[in-house]
Amino acid sequence: MRSFSLLFSVLISGVLSIAPAWADEKIPVMASFSILGDLVQQVGGKHVAVTTLVANNSDAHVYQPTPQDTIRLTKSKLFVVNGLGFEGWMERLVSASHYKGKVITASSGIQPLSFGEDAHHEEEEEQHDAAEHRHGSQDPHAWHSIPNTIQYVRNIANGLSQIDPAHQADYQANAGRYIQQLEQLDKTLLQAFAAIPAEKRKMITSHDAFGYLSHRYQITTIAPQGVSTEAEASASDVAKIIRQIRKENIKALFVENISDPRLMQQISKETGVQPGKALFSDALSDNKGPASTYLDMMRYNTAQILTALKQ
Ligand SMILES: [Zn+2]
Repeated sequence: MRSFSLLFSVLISGVLSIAPAWADEKIPVMASFSILGDLVQQVGGKHVAVTTLVANNSDAHVYQPTPQDTIRLTKSKLFVVNGLGFEGWMERLVSASHYKGKVITASSGIQPLSFGEDAHHEEEEEQHDAAEHRHGSQDPHAWHSIPNTIQYVRNIANGLSQIDPAHQADYQANAGRYIQQLEQLDKTLLQAFAAIPAEKRKMITSHDAFGYLSHRYQITTIAPQGVSTEAEASASDVAKIIRQIRKENIKALFVENISDPRLMQQISKETGVQPGKALFSDALSDNKGPASTYLDMMRYNTAQILTALKQ
């Protein structure tokens, strides 16, 4: 009798520890960086367990996967990446980890901008070696245009529906509700930027992450550091930007949460233009920060930019 009750209790405890996993098994999804992680969470809702490789406030351009990251990826069923060359380390990581799950490229189907496509070109810049060298490469920061992010959300909903067809209706419904919020914010921002005279819509950012935002809201953006944080601005680039700030009376000067602030501090000192609060370009803030979700990031960044442009 005693051994029977022992066996019985072992069986019961085994059932109890397994049962929650059967009832509520979340799909493990890896996102390459925090902004994508939030989009996957919005669409996946209660059905997904999302982890991100590149943490909040960290720089995906110079990220190096660790052995632990390799293990975390292997345990995922879906890997969501930005594409457009943003995750230069991605293919090596996928092959090193022998990852067999599905990979989706969130930016599939968007119209990519070339680097500097929206930049203001002066005659001397046309002859500049570095500027020429950068032409033709695609700007990966497509999430700063809300219409592109809507495409990201559709791609994520389709990817989740393929690996978890049982919850397809939930994924499509979550995506639909979230897209409505995105469309509403985009409409508000189009009106807010259009209300600022075109000649005042000019800003300087250290790392050229806002090409798509500039394109969407018709802002001229100048960035000494270029499209990747790996690049360094040349002395002649910086001197040219200082001349341009003075000549065109530009008042909006920003660093990003992932960038080294020293270059902007130097430009600020030489021009007397005070930098605005740091913008969130390639990573969300932590949970206590002002940009812990994509929508909050867009609201926060555009509020800083609008304030600076109105000066
Ligand atoms: Zn970047």
